[in-house]
Amino acid sequence: MAGLSTPSRPLLLLRGGTVIDGSGAPPRRANVLLEGDTIAAILAPDAEVAGAESIELDGLAVAPGFIDSHTHDDGYLLAHPDMVPKVSQGVTTVVTGNCGVSLAPVPPGCPLPQPLDLLGPPELFRYPTFSAWMDALREAPAAVNVIPLVGHASLRVSTMNDLQRPATPEECAGMRRLLAEALDAGAFGMSTGTFYPPAQHATTQEIIDIGETMRGRGGMIYAVHLRDESDRIDEAIEEALEIGRSLAARVVFSHHKLAGERNHGRSAQTLARIEEAGAMQPVCLDCHPYPATSTMLRLDRVRLARRTLIAWSKGDPSAQGRDFAELQHEWGLDDDAMLQRLAPAGAIYFLMDERDVERILAHPRTMVGSDGLPFDPHPHPRQWGTFTRVLSRLVRDKGLLTLEAAVHKMTGLAAANYGLRDRGLLQPGLRADLVVFDPQRVTDLATFDNPVQASRGIEGVWVNGQRVWDGQRATGLRPGRVLERH
Ligand SMILES: [Zn+2]
Repeated sequence: MAGLSTPSRPLLLLRGGTVIDGSGAPPRRANVLLEGDTIAAILAPDAEVAGAESIELDGLAVAPGFIDSHTHDDGYLLAHPDMVPKVSQGVTTVVTGNCGVSLAPVPPGCPLPQPLDLLGPPELFRYPTFSAWMDALREAPAAVNVIPLVGHASLRVSTMNDLQRPATPEECAGMRRLLAEALDAGAFGMSTGTFYPPAQHATTQEIIDIGETMRGRGGMIYAVHLRDESDRIDEAIEEALEIGRSLAARVVFSHHKLAGERNHGRSAQTLARIEEAGAMQPVCLDCHPYPATSTMLRLDRVRLARRTLIAWSKGDPSAQGRDFAELQHEWGLDDDAMLQRLAPAGAIYFLMDERDVERILAHPRTMVGSDGLPFDPHPHPRQWGTFTRVLSRLVRDKGLLTLEAAVHKMTGLAAANYGLRDRGLLQPGLRADLVVFDPQRVTDLATFDNPVQASRGIEGVWVNGQRVWDGQRATGLRPGRVLERH
C-alpha cells in the first residue's frame, strides 16, 4: 500500500460492495480501489484509504464492465458517442464489424446493398480504409471501448462490381490487401455472413484466400454468421470450422440459433459438435436471451417464423412496428407483393425455441452478444436489454445460471476469447471498466412493443476509470478506447 500514499492520479474507493470478479468465482464482500484508469487494489470490506473519494455501495454487486461480444455499433459509436443503449445495461466494450458487415473499409459513394444499411445511413460510410475509421474513433472517442472486426461483405462491396458470383483471384488479392491493412491498423480479425446476398456467392475457398493474411498473426478472430442456421446448419458449422482451421483463427459462432420449428431442439447436437471441435481448435459462441432475431426483411425468414414484426420500411413507413401477417390480411397482398411494397425493410422474426436459446446461453463456451441494430426506428429490444435480461430472467427468475457464471460470460470469458489481458476481471493492475448493479432489482424494460427503454438497476458504469452512467443517465464523459490485441 506504500505506493498509494502519494498518488499521482485520483483515487476512488467503492466501499462495501459484493465483488463478482468475472472469473466465475463466488461473490465476496470487498472494497475496490481505483487509481486513474486502473484497478489499484481489492481490499478488505472495512479498509479505508486516505485521500480517496469514496462511494458507498451497501451490498450492491460490483463487476467488470460487460463486453458485448456481438454488435453492429460501428457507426453508432460515432453518431451517438454516449452509447446510452449500451452503458445503461452495464456494457463497457463492444465488438463491432460482425455478420460480414463493417463500416470500413467502404469508400464514400460505394453502393450499399442490404444488409450493409443496417449499420446506419449512407453518410456514415466514408472510410475507404479501416485505419481511417479507427482514427475517427480515436479523435472522437465514445463512452465505451471497441474491439473492431472487418466484415467480408464490406470487403466485397468495395472491391467487386458484381457480387452475384465468387471473387476472381485478382479480386481475392485486392480484398486480402484491404484485410491486411485493417489487421495492421489493429483489427482483431474478420467476420463473414454468407447467409446474406452480398456474400452468399462467396465460396469457402474465397474466404480462406482472403483470410490467409490472418494465419501468421496468431490469435485472430474469425466470427461467422453461418451460411445456414436452419435445415443445413450442420454443413454450415463444418464450413466455419474448416475456415477456422485453415486460418489458424478462433471461430466465434455468432448468435448461435436454430431457426424454424422443424429445427427446434437441434441445439443439443450442434453444441455437442462445437464442443467436440473445441478439443481440436479454438471455438466459442455468442447469443442473446430472446427467441426472436432481427435483420433485413426476407421472405425465407418470414416463412420460417411463427410471427414477423416490421422494424422499419422505406417502401411503406406506416408499416413500422406492425405485424406482417396482420398487414398482409389488411392489404390483401401475397408474399411477393408484400415484399415489393415494404422493401427495403427490416424485420423481427420469432423463429427460435426458448429451450434452444436457454441451452445455448447456458453452454460454458457461450458469451453474451446483443446483435442489436442501433439505427432501427423500432428495434429489437436486445439493443437495450440483452445483458439486464440475462441477469433478471435467466439468473434471478429462472436460476438457469448463477450470477457469477452469467457475469463470467459477459466479462472474463469474452476477454479471454478476444485476447484482452487487461480487462474482463476485477483484479489489481487491470483497466478500471466496472459496473455496479442491484442483483435484486436489475431488469430489462425494453420490450418488443416498446423497445427503446433503459434498464432498471444499473447504478453506475465506469470505463477506464471514468463514470459514464450515473444510474439514471449518461454523464457525457467519453473515455472509450479502441482496444489492442495482446
Ligand atoms: Zn448476424
